[in-house]
Amino acid sequence: MDRPINLCVLGATGSVGASTLDVVARHPGRYRLFALTAHNAADALLELCRTHGPRYAVLSGMAEDRDLRDRFSREKVELLFGAKALEQVASAAECQVVMAAIVGAAGLASTFAAVRAGKRVLLANKEPLVMAGALLIEAARRSGAELLPIDSEHNAVFQCLAGNAREAVRRILLTASGGPFRTAPLESLHKVTPAQACAHPNWSMGRKISVDSATMMNKGLEVIEARWLFDLPAERIEVLVHPQSIVHSLVEYVDGSVIAQLSNPDMRVPIAHALGYPQRIDSGARRLDLAALKSLSFEAPDESRFPCLRLAYSALRAAGSAATVLNAANEVAVDAFLAGRLPFTAIARVVEATLDAVSAEAGDGLDAVLEADAQGRRAAAARVLAQAA
Ligand code: NAD
Ligand code: MG
Repeated sequence: MDRPINLCVLGATGSVGASTLDVVARHPGRYRLFALTAHNAADALLELCRTHGPRYAVLSGMAEDRDLRDRFSREKVELLFGAKALEQVASAAECQVVMAAIVGAAGLASTFAAVRAGKRVLLANKEPLVMAGALLIEAARRSGAELLPIDSEHNAVFQCLAGNAREAVRRILLTASGGPFRTAPLESLHKVTPAQACAHPNWSMGRKISVDSATMMNKGLEVIEARWLFDLPAERIEVLVHPQSIVHSLVEYVDGSVIAQLSNPDMRVPIAHALGYPQRIDSGARRLDLAALKSLSFEAPDESRFPCLRLAYSALRAAGSAATVLNAANEVAVDAFLAGRLPFTAIARVVEATLDAVSAEAGDGLDAVLEADAQGRRAAAARVLAQAA
């Protein structure tokens, strides 16, 4: 048997992290866990260490703690503390493959570290691409890092593109379920609670992406993600609402052929695809039974219901740092909504007002991205206060 592949899972205690470890456990001997990371969830991380026996564990949101370090070392795991440790494990020479599954801008530095170190990066954490797509793609080109998309839509497009020339692509269609409020009366949306917004009809995910799915900002972020992953302009990336979440995306070619990827909605499918690539490995997902499903439906997105989608397209077209500001404002607004400080319908208003207030001039390099992110956060926080008042 080949030597095991050394894998680092950033965000191991999250939803994508759990699905990744589930697939890994189905293939004993194929992978060796090099490092698992969590922000503060020490007990959950320790439990994962007992099951998966990584060499390192990281608690990025905690300062050095002797007692915790001893508890992990009894499991023969070396525990590291602080955000810098994420970059260390993601770029370590022994590590070959990095699953980037931290949520939000918090994953930016470690994703960059893995890319700069030339790793194979399985990219679930879409926000770094939204914030700094051009820089991330350029860094990958320089280092030879390989980016494999985990987001189900982008993984589907990646699969549908296989073996075809890029010039032959007419457009890509990203499918969207429409989330929990696709048919809810518009006037009821302002009193939606975090629990309702997080109750996605087809997918079980972390809280931030669940809210993004409910506003459809998630699809907007995915349009920007697709722009960078597949090097296509905004005009050739379209969104198609498909409530059953069976067709994960489609690619239309110049000859009129449209190729789609289908599966039951289960993140283990794209994760297994990328973990095994270019081979195919078992994911544990339930097999698709189209005869039992009987019908699949599609509709155009309703822009008045989902203003965030329009905001993301306009940030993409505005270029400069607009997408960074959009992402920052959205993270601030979603946090405030989850904390009960902002009504659901004000998320889009905060993002729009922030985009209007912050100049989208592009600076050079990662420092400029971080500056635009900080400006976006400050402006959005002020608007959250104004909306809540
Ligand atoms: P989650 O909230 O379930 O998990 C997030 C993980 O990141 C946890 O391990 C947490 O400890 C860690 N984390 C949180 N804040 C951190 C910080 N400040 N610094 C370092 N680590 C931190 O999130 P998720 O749903 O698994 O999503 C992860 C990423 O994958 C997101 O970018 C999301 O958009 C993307 N994604 C998720 C799904 C899904 O099905 N959940 C699908 C497609 C894409
Ligand atoms: Mg997705």
